[in-house]
Amino acid sequence: MLKLEHDFHVHTHLSSCAKDSATIEHYVAKARELGIRKLGLADHMWDSAVSGAPKWYVPQNFEHISTIREEIAATEHEGIEFLVGCECEYDRIHEGVAISEAVAEQLDFLIVPNSHTHITMPKDLYEPHRAHAEYMLKAFYDIINSPVAKYVTAIPHPFMAVCCPYPNAQAIAEITDDEFKRCFDAAANKGIAMEINPNHFRHPLPAIYESQIMRMYRIIRESGCKFTLGTDSHSDTGHDQWRNAYVAIGLLGLKEDDFHPLTRVR
Ligand SMILES: [Zn+2]
Ligand SMILES: [Zn+2]
Repeated sequence: MLKLEHDFHVHTHLSSCAKDSATIEHYVAKARELGIRKLGLADHMWDSAVSGAPKWYVPQNFEHISTIREEIAATEHEGIEFLVGCECEYDRIHEGVAISEAVAEQLDFLIVPNSHTHITMPKDLYEPHRAHAEYMLKAFYDIINSPVAKYVTAIPHPFMAVCCPYPNAQAIAEITDDEFKRCFDAAANKGIAMEINPNHFRHPLPAIYESQIMRMYRIIRESGCKFTLGTDSHSDTGHDQWRNAYVAIGLLGLKEDDFHPLTRVR
């Protein structure tokens, strides 16, 4: 049985939407409790070198999120490895990722969502849901074809629109198997992984089994994309659904080789 020892999507208090309780000290204690040995810090970031940052991103630039290194150094964390990366934003204006190559190469890993539509998408595209889905499809391709694509480790919460005004599985329902297959084949070719978030697998099993999200994840699996696990924790309750990571890997039949090489624990 595969032992899950990484979480590649954790926000600290440096993210504007995270709680003060999201400290390095908290994550070290949580990791020891759950058997996690590799934590990827993925605070929100918009590189100052890229114009057009939405107001919300101030002050979340590279300099801001880098201060976490001091907190890591000051906290006893034997046996827990920290990677300092970020959750960078899709840049709709430049049809790419809001990060320069100079900054990207200083990070340990990089995740870029195509589904922060509440931040990046004009509101009138929520309806019809197909327009919302098409926006995410375009964002997906813009990310994986961008000049910094080689630095992108994973797409977090793929196609799971964040803060969606309607149930976000309905946008996934608008995307055909063929469209998903083309997306994930292209991502697999570039070595870009798809994230599994245990929070998305907390429903009763029959409901998960029949769900749109499982349809999507089965296609991801078929495409040969690698995976990462990411809780998207923003507070001291961020790992409450951790055990459902085992539900996800069980339903998908994932083995160690199915995960991105960076997630391996030495
Ligand atoms: Zn996100
Ligand atoms: Zn996040």
